[in-house]
Amino acid sequence: MQVVEHISEVRAVVEPIRRAGKRVGFVPTMGALHRGHLDLMQTARRECDFVVTSIFVNPTQFAPHEDLAKYPRPKERDLELCQSVGVDLIFYPTVDEMYPRGAVTSVYVDGLSTVLEGAIRPTHFRGVTTVVAKLFGIVSPDRAYFGQKDYQQQLIIRTMVRDLDMAVDIRTCPTTRDTDGMALSSRNAYLSPSERTAGLCLSQALKRGEQMAADGVAPDVIADAMQDQMEATPGVALDYAVVVDPWTLTDLTTPQPQMVALVAAHIGATRLIDNAIWGAPLY
Ligand code: AMP
Repeated sequence: MQVVEHISEVRAVVEPIRRAGKRVGFVPTMGALHRGHLDLMQTARRECDFVVTSIFVNPTQFAPHEDLAKYPRPKERDLELCQSVGVDLIFYPTVDEMYPRGAVTSVYVDGLSTVLEGAIRPTHFRGVTTVVAKLFGIVSPDRAYFGQKDYQQQLIIRTMVRDLDMAVDIRTCPTTRDTDGMALSSRNAYLSPSERTAGLCLSQALKRGEQMAADGVAPDVIADAMQDQMEATPGVALDYAVVVDPWTLTDLTTPQPQMVALVAAHIGATRLIDNAIWGAPLY
């Protein structure tokens, strides 16, 4: 496994591989890796000839009051984990490498970037789409792997790829969970034991919602029930609990064959999100 910091080094490694007709898979991450990230890498490993991972805590997707400074950066452990699942190349750039002085261009997916996570974090998705567009330009992958865990993010990235005719196939992989149902997240490390217990209300609300959906309950009624359930949990400050159309993210009032439930809440100082696809698989 090679670890490089410079854009030119990534290109020098990847170009001959692509020229040889090999399929390049790419897994962008912010590090602090857990089993969810490793599952993406293992899927890429199975489907591609050469696997590239980036580890970059992207400052432009954090608002000034958010956790950029304290975001965990366990470099050695992350590199070992990548090695253990057979990653071929790690791109581990500095902020200056990614955002040299004078950089003024950004990529913005209108509409979808303004709702839900985007309503609460107005600058977040511009940072995400800009860095992902840059990384696609650097790595030139055939396939890129994202987690369903960040449902809105993968939808926005798919929209960017479609609208800008980027030659990359987006794969969305299922959310990896702990045995108690909690979605794995690098931010779970911030939780105290009691907060960890309170945080279970996200996946529990989604489970109950799923049962209600299977029973034919209207999606707006399910959303209300999920909100009530989460708000009744001590230590939880609800941001949203909604049932939406999978492509437009607009609230639903009547059941449809495929629906997505999305939840977000603060548990103490830590913000957690989770979601579930109800109905036939989307990806
Ligand atoms: P992050 O390092 O949080 O930016 O995440 C990098 C990638 O890993 C994104 O595509 C996430 O959606 C994905 N990811 C994060 N947590 C999980 C999880 N529990 N299961 C599957 N994918 C995940």
